[in-house]
Amino acid sequence: MIKKEKIKQYLAELNDASVEDCLKFAVNIFGIEYFALASSFSIEDQVLTRMLLTIDPKAKIFTLDTGRLPQETYNTMDLTMKKYSFNYEFLFPESLAIEDMESKFGPNLFYQSIKNRKMCCNIRKVLPLQKKLSSLKCWVCGLRKEQSSTRTDVNILEWDENNGLFKMNPLANWNEQNVWDYLKEHNIPYNKLYDSNYKSIGCDPCTRAIQLGEDVRAGRWWWEAPEQKECGLHRR
Ligand code: SF4
Repeated sequence: MIKKEKIKQYLAELNDASVEDCLKFAVNIFGIEYFALASSFSIEDQVLTRMLLTIDPKAKIFTLDTGRLPQETYNTMDLTMKKYSFNYEFLFPESLAIEDMESKFGPNLFYQSIKNRKMCCNIRKVLPLQKKLSSLKCWVCGLRKEQSSTRTDVNILEWDENNGLFKMNPLANWNEQNVWDYLKEHNIPYNKLYDSNYKSIGCDPCTRAIQLGEDVRAGRWWWEAPEQKECGLHRR
């Protein structure tokens, strides 16, 4: 039984905790079977992957394979699995739903309207995620406050009302330099698209490099207004 009323107590216990301490706390409180990292192979997720596997090599890490990811992301998965000798749990969308959607709207429906883009994100990402989250007590993400206007209120631990479990964001207060410093210090593999000025990487057709001075998330669904730029995985 998950008790959301515990959030105040947990937050008090996590006051001033390091990122590693947050992860250890979650492993102890929720148990390794009910606590998992959702990785999209961002630099933040790569930091958390290394930390979590160092705390417990049996830690669960899952990823949403939408079928539209860039090759560089698959290369990052491969390198990370080899370096840390583990396997991700891969979550796939329902093939019938994809067949139906593409038969009606075509393969590039996300450029046609926000409604169609959200339908694609829902089928390829949100539904597989919801199914996975129903088996957990807490999930972990690499969200940071400074990433975008939609993430300024991210807290290190939240109650995820939409999915009925806790959500931990241990890097909420880190800046981008903190992330790169940790990656370099521990020689962690990262998505090579970052070297071409990509700052937030999702599906290939919905991600582009950003220009100097642009918001970190400007390269995601760049044809939409900033307040629309969430795929439904992190509803706030
Ligand atoms: S990011 Fe683009 S391709 Fe990926 S699920 Fe969303 S709309 Fe579809």
